[in-house]
Amino acid sequence: MNKAEITIYKIGGAIIDNVADLTKFLHLLAHASGPKILVHGGGKGASTMMRELGLTPQLINGRRVTDAAALDIVVMFYAGKTNKQVVAELQQLGVNALGLSGADGNVIQGVKRPVKDIDYGFVGDLTPTGINAPLLQQLLAAGITPVLCPIIHDGHGQLLNTNADTIASAVAVALATSFNVTLHYCFEKNGVLRDVHDDQSVIPQITSATYAELKQQGIIADGMLPKLENAFSALNQGVGKVIISHALRIETDLHTVLCLN
Ligand code: ADP
Repeated sequence: MNKAEITIYKIGGAIIDNVADLTKFLHLLAHASGPKILVHGGGKGASTMMRELGLTPQLINGRRVTDAAALDIVVMFYAGKTNKQVVAELQQLGVNALGLSGADGNVIQGVKRPVKDIDYGFVGDLTPTGINAPLLQQLLAAGITPVLCPIIHDGHGQLLNTNADTIASAVAVALATSFNVTLHYCFEKNGVLRDVHDDQSVIPQITSATYAELKQQGIIADGMLPKLENAFSALNQGVGKVIISHALRIETDLHTVLCLN
């Protein structure tokens, strides 16, 4: 029997930070066919709020260190303001969205990242069994669109800040036994670019082999590296298709498709 289709969309920080673009993206999402789950990232709002409160956001190698004060703020921002704003706009568009942190319905449980060289604080790592796929399936069957924010829990009462690309990949993998899953990373560029400053230089297809070359040549760098690691990890675990595109061009052919070979 053919499996039903589902698309896991992930939107990144730059789209979350731009109110007009976020609204445009949500319009496109509301009109995109088939069942879907939306995972959203954080954006700069939490750092801005921290500064307003006299706190200094800490980054090591571009990664946020989430101390207790930072955790309070990212929970308020990601699981609160951003998640609820997205849900309210989807409701306005006729999509019955339900906003969830990982603690809600125990939808995503993980572990606090062990301290090796660097202590990232209250940051969560996902475990293979951490995604509550049956709950997501029940929600989808009821016609509900889950909207997941990047805050999870550890099962012992601790909330944890977690990378949204990793959540999207893990949710895609967890649903791949029951669905034919497309994982669609949406951000502020037209796809993976040969020249990061030229939005016309989209690489239409990347295989595991070309990924290794592009990485070695320095063409893929920064935030795109963990995104592609997550993408190939999903493909290796049964996800049918991974697309990387502009958040405002989700229904066009201008994008990068990833494949194993
Ligand atoms: P998001 O918040 O949307 O998940 P990230 O900042 O984590 O985005 O990763 C996307 C960023 O990766 C882009 O904004 C871009 O600066 C960077 N990047 C590095 N190499 C590339 C590339 N070859 N093509 C596109 N983006 C790239």
